[in-house]
Amino acid sequence: MINYNFHLHSRYSDGNSEPEEYVLKAIELGFTSLGFSEHSPLPFENSFSLKNELVDEYVSVIDNLREKFSEKILIYHALEMDYIPNMSTDFDYWKKRCQTDYLIGSVHLVKPLGNSELWFTDGPKHETYDQGLNDFFGGDIKKAVRTYYHQMNEMIDTQKFDIVGHVDKIKMHNKDRYFKEDEPWYQNLVDECLSLIKEKDLIVEVNTRGIYKKRYPGLFPDGIALQKVKDLNIPVIISSDAHSPEELNLGFHNAISKLKETGFTEVMKFANGEWDVEEV
Ligand SMILES: [Zn+2]
Ligand SMILES: [Zn+2]
Repeated sequence: MINYNFHLHSRYSDGNSEPEEYVLKAIELGFTSLGFSEHSPLPFENSFSLKNELVDEYVSVIDNLREKFSEKILIYHALEMDYIPNMSTDFDYWKKRCQTDYLIGSVHLVKPLGNSELWFTDGPKHETYDQGLNDFFGGDIKKAVRTYYHQMNEMIDTQKFDIVGHVDKIKMHNKDRYFKEDEPWYQNLVDECLSLIKEKDLIVEVNTRGIYKKRYPGLFPDGIALQKVKDLNIPVIISSDAHSPEELNLGFHNAISKLKETGFTEVMKFANGEWDVEEV
């Protein structure tokens, strides 16, 4: 049983509940630890990230919960950092400012070359994905996906963090419409990204959100990409990327059986300030 989750969003970013409600639900589920990972502040108006002026409040709210429930559960505060070239603030700045226990690095907004607008590749609507693909890349899916992975690689190469968030989420709204995951050009991009992750000793997240939100029938990553993670011996962590307390452990059974099927015997867990392994 996986009795922890280190990727979740409360109302301090785009989640729907107070942090304490997640803690109470986690205790009810028998969790031993919980990590809050709000979307990092961004230098422009948006509806999903932690507001700059709420950073200190967020940190103190989580610290208070850590104290209040210290007998029952270990609580950590983290951030899910958004990497946007020449736009997002250095990860180190936020790590120090928030005294985070760990950081997740993710790409949700792709910056097309020579364009100041951003392609939002996440969220519930495939229409937004399709429109960005047409407007910013002239419908050229290879160019668009290559830009996503290059941004991912640049993040891995230049920023300091612990977990690579939903590494292949770019496939979510594709749903086999523009490309198939086993196409060599796509697998080359996956290979390049995973070898960089290996080189930097990072953890790959196995994210269940696509499944329980019914946005994608598998995990991020799964299939060939997950097998490659295994073959490279890259450590993994299961998380649900919860945006409500009810989502704290959704998809975990599915992820565990998929990991076992792929040959994994261990997953990562954060405990007392460091990463440790646990049998899956
Ligand atoms: Zn994310
Ligand atoms: Zn997230």
